[in-house]
Amino acid sequence: MIGIIGGSGVEEISELADSIEKKTVDTEYGSVEVSLLTIGDKTVAFLPRHSAGHTCPPHKINFKANIMALKEIGVNQIMATNAVGSLDLDIGPGSIVIPDDFLDFTVNRDRTFYDDEVIHIDMTEPFCNRLRGAILDNSDSVEGNVVDGGTIVCMEGPRFETPAEIKMLSILGGTVVGMTTLPEAVLAREKEMCYAPIAVVSNYSTGISPTKLNTDEVYEIMAQKKEELISLLFNTIKELHTEYDCDCHHILDDAHM
Ligand SMILES: [Zn+2]
Repeated sequence: MIGIIGGSGVEEISELADSIEKKTVDTEYGSVEVSLLTIGDKTVAFLPRHSAGHTCPPHKINFKANIMALKEIGVNQIMATNAVGSLDLDIGPGSIVIPDDFLDFTVNRDRTFYDDEVIHIDMTEPFCNRLRGAILDNSDSVEGNVVDGGTIVCMEGPRFETPAEIKMLSILGGTVVGMTTLPEAVLAREKEMCYAPIAVVSNYSTGISPTKLNTDEVYEIMAQKKEELISLLFNTIKELHTEYDCDCHHILDDAHM
């Protein structure tokens, strides 16, 4: 099954579905509300990352419950949307970035399923390149800039970054900055699921932006981009195989010490 985790501005994608069934999945980490969408001949599990109505702040998201819920209902590949700020003047608001690496600056999150055994998962390709490729192959419907690759930085939040932090992240090679990719991407890999982020640039980061950041600006851009994002997801879902093999599904084979 294909899973979609919707970030800010993508709280529901019901317009994609022929039919919808809501389901509560009880996991050992908590209960999660998931929508099962029928799209053509496929079933797609949709989960709004910040909960219904966008009520849960980034640092309080129960990432383990979300990933476990998707795993338990049979999801094996996840596309995840993120609203991000750009660290690069050439990648302006409205651009869509399909990152191929990350920098993790979160400080206070429950970041692994393996607290009781020694597991070191490989991060040579931090996101699934098969899934990234499928998204990029179906990006014709996007009017604005689509960027293949880049480093997504994940900050703890919920505040925005300072100018000095943005300068640092830029020097370190960051392309875009958000608050929700980690530990989500790592937890998905620990559960041997393919995972690829779709980062929608809602603003320039502070110090790069000529104006002061405000959340209205973020929501305005996300609302404008939602239609394009929905068609990107729809086209990719249509093309994705549900019976397939990928290195992501065997990541634990070499992870035990
Ligand atoms: Zn994969």
